[in-house]
Amino acid sequence: MASEPAVELDGVTRRYGETTAVSALSLSVREGEFFTLVGPSGCGKTTTLRLLAGFETPTTGTVRFGGQSVAGVPPESRDVGVVFQSYALFPHMTVGENVAYGLNFADPPGGVGRDKRVRDLLELVDLGGMADRDPDTLSGGQQQRVAIARALAPGPEVLLLDEPMSALDAKLRERLRVQVRELQQELGITTVYVTHDQEEALAISDRVAVMRDGTPEQVGSPREIYRRPATPFVADFIGDNNVLSGTVTDLRETAAGRVADVAIGEERLAVGLDGRTAARGDELTFCVRPERLAVGDGENALSATVTSAEFLGETTRVHLDWHGRQLRLRTRSPPTGTATVAFEPADAHVVTIR
Ligand code: ATP
Repeated sequence: MASEPAVELDGVTRRYGETTAVSALSLSVREGEFFTLVGPSGCGKTTTLRLLAGFETPTTGTVRFGGQSVAGVPPESRDVGVVFQSYALFPHMTVGENVAYGLNFADPPGGVGRDKRVRDLLELVDLGGMADRDPDTLSGGQQQRVAIARALAPGPEVLLLDEPMSALDAKLRERLRVQVRELQQELGITTVYVTHDQEEALAISDRVAVMRDGTPEQVGSPREIYRRPATPFVADFIGDNNVLSGTVTDLRETAAGRVADVAIGEERLAVGLDGRTAARGDELTFCVRPERLAVGDGENALSATVTSAEFLGETTRVHLDWHGRQLRLRTRSPPTGTATVAFEPADAHVVTIR
């Protein structure tokens, strides 16, 4: 039998007056899982995390930890460690005192002394030997690791992280996210992570919930979310993408599987159905990743005009105009002027059929 989810939101809605921040949200986070809530500003990520932490109460619905409702249980009794965007370290305390502060409400787990616990935690976040430093002598990334050590001090069951890296520069953010992931795996701690950065979400998580208007549009592994976006919003929000819609005019069997011919304006494009069912006249939305478009002729050849190009190092992202639609191509050899680009029917992913 599958074990109880470590953390569960069951039909949770949170309203503030006229605003619905979180809407009929149901999510289950498994024991030891790194679970990320990602979505644009205002989609309800922080509110969801605050509902888990106990800083907010649901207007309706139930939050459960280990299968038990935590209604009425205050934050300090929830067995969670919380880290926010701003490091919020106490400037008048040393690094070690900041971490020890996390133990204020609890005895160190495992029966060790407080000093040893603090030293161990600082080792854990790669800040061994820094206990006597003042927080303001540390880099942003180091300060955020102190905040994580402080949150971990009482040995919580669940770690809640709200955009912990958003105040850091890009290089530091990439380094810290690797460290956070390694730490989480070492401890096996159930973690709920909030970010608006889709790349970070894909890089760090076991599973991701893509949120929109207070509710998840899709929940899945980073690979699933990237390869098989379930809605046009997810297709567009996660990674670079070309999302197109048209009417199904024909259905064919090909060597590469069943294909729908889709009319977009005057053009016809062949889209691999990959097990999905469509009928003539259906409105089909599909996506093709920019790296799946290739310069040159092919089955789905689009004659487009280059409008701009961004040099990204290994590849260039080329913006194209195709009958008034914006397309993106990623390539090592960027075309200029007018270009023909093509994609295999199997490289198109069907998002919705209506
Ligand atoms: P961001 O990425 O910008 O932090 P978010 O996805 O975390 O956004 P929330 O902070 O959860 O979104 O906010 C969701 C919605 O609820 C927003 O429209 C916000 O204005 C509203 N909201 C959140 N907290 C409150 C509050 N205390 N009072 C009134 N409205 C609120």
